[in-house]
Amino acid sequence: MSLVIGVPKETAPLERRVALVPDAVARLTRDGVQVVVEHGAGEAAFFPDAGYEAAGAQMVERPKAYDVDVQARVQPPGEEEAALLRPGSVVVGFLRPLDAPDEVARLAAAGVTALAMEMVPRTTRAQKMDALSAMATVAGYRAVLLAAEALPKFFPLLTTAAGTLRPAKVLVLGAGVAGLQAIATARRLGAVVSAYDVRPAAREQVESVGGRFVELRLETGDAEAAGGYARALDEERQRLQVELLAPHVAASDVVVTTALVPGAGAPLLVAEEAVRGMAPGSVVVDVAAPNGGNCALTRPGETVLIGPGVRVLGPLNLPAEMPMHASQMYARTVAAMIGEFVKDGAFAPDFDDEIFRSACVAHAGEVVNERVRELLGEVARS
Ligand code: NAD
Repeated sequence: MSLVIGVPKETAPLERRVALVPDAVARLTRDGVQVVVEHGAGEAAFFPDAGYEAAGAQMVERPKAYDVDVQARVQPPGEEEAALLRPGSVVVGFLRPLDAPDEVARLAAAGVTALAMEMVPRTTRAQKMDALSAMATVAGYRAVLLAAEALPKFFPLLTTAAGTLRPAKVLVLGAGVAGLQAIATARRLGAVVSAYDVRPAAREQVESVGGRFVELRLETGDAEAAGGYARALDEERQRLQVELLAPHVAASDVVVTTALVPGAGAPLLVAEEAVRGMAPGSVVVDVAAPNGGNCALTRPGETVLIGPGVRVLGPLNLPAEMPMHASQMYARTVAAMIGEFVKDGAFAPDFDDEIFRSACVAHAGEVVNERVRELLGEVARS
C-alpha cells in the first residue's frame, strides 16, 4: 500500500489557495505516492479538477480527502473538518500554533500528528520548506500593487507634453522578506523608495534592491536576535521610534508596513498623528494587519479613510489574492516537507530531526510544542 496524501478544498473565509497544485501532484505520483483531491479544491486558484486528474490525482468527495495518511492544507481545519481527520494520520499546513493554540489542542484531541509550516526553522537545510518566506514574497509584491491601485498618482517619473510628473515616494517599514519584495516591486514601478528596519544588517539588503535606508537617531545594535529575527524594543525606544518615523511617513505618498517580532506580534510604528500628517490621496498598506498592524489606525480586514483623504488598508490575506502563484510556491514547500519524512513508502515521524521537532505541534494525543503548551496554560489560567 502506498502513502495516500489528501488535499481538501479550503473552507476558511477569503482563502483561495490550495495546498498542492497539479505540478506538485505529478511529482508525488511519479514517486509512487497516491494523491486524492477534493472536487473543486484548486478552482479558486485557477487549477481545475482536470489538471489534477492529468497529474495522476484521484478526485474525491469531501470526507475521502480527510481519510488519508497525510493531509496537505493551507489553513487550520475547522471543528467539523478536524472531526473528519483519521486518528494517527498527519496534517501539514499553516496551523497558527501561536495565534490560535486552542486549534492545536483540537488537533491533538483528534489524535493526529500536526506539522505547522510556520514553525519550520530558517536553516539552510529547511530552506525548501520555508513557506513563510514564500508567502511573504507574495504579500510584499501584492501590497505594492494595492497601493499603486489606490494612489491617485503615477508611481514613475513621467515627462510628457502635458507636464512633468514627479515619481511617487514610497516608504517601506520592516525590511524582511515581504519588505524587500515590496521595495523591489515599488522600484520596478518607478517609485522613489526608502525603507527602515530595526536590524542594522537590513541596510545592505535594502540598498541591494534599490531602496535608500532611512537612518534614525535610535540605538538598535541589540535588536537582532538569533536567526536574523528582530527583538522587541523597550518601551522608551519604541516610543522614540514612532516619533522619529513620523516625518518620514508624512513625506511619503505610500507607506507599506511589514514589521513583525516573532512571538510578540506587530510593533506599532505609525502613530495616528503621522498618518494625519500625510498629504490627501496618500495610502498606507499595513501588511502586518493579520497580526494587529503596525499602524495605529489599521482595522484588520478594512480600508479606513482618514481626515482629508488618507486611506489605510489592512488586508488580511494578501497571498490568497494571488492564489495561483501563491499556491504553486506553497505547494513546493509542503511537498518538500512531506517528502523529507517519507521513509520506505510511509510517513515516519522523527523527533531527532530538528525540522520535524520544530514543526511538530501535536502528536499522539498531546500538544508537543512547549510555547503552545505555555500559551494554552495561560489561556486556561486566565
Ligand atoms: P518578520 O516577518 O519576522 O519581520 C519583518 C521585518 O520586520 C524584519 O526584518 C524585522 O527586523 C522587522 N522589524 C521588527 N520590528 C521592527 C521595528 N520595531 N521597526 C522596524 N522593523 C522592525 O521577518 P522575516 O521576513 O521573516 O525575516 C526575518 C529575518 O530572517 C531576516 O533577517 C531574513 O533575511 C531572515 N530569513 C532567513 C531565511 C533563511 O536563512 N532561510 C529565510 C527567510 C528569512
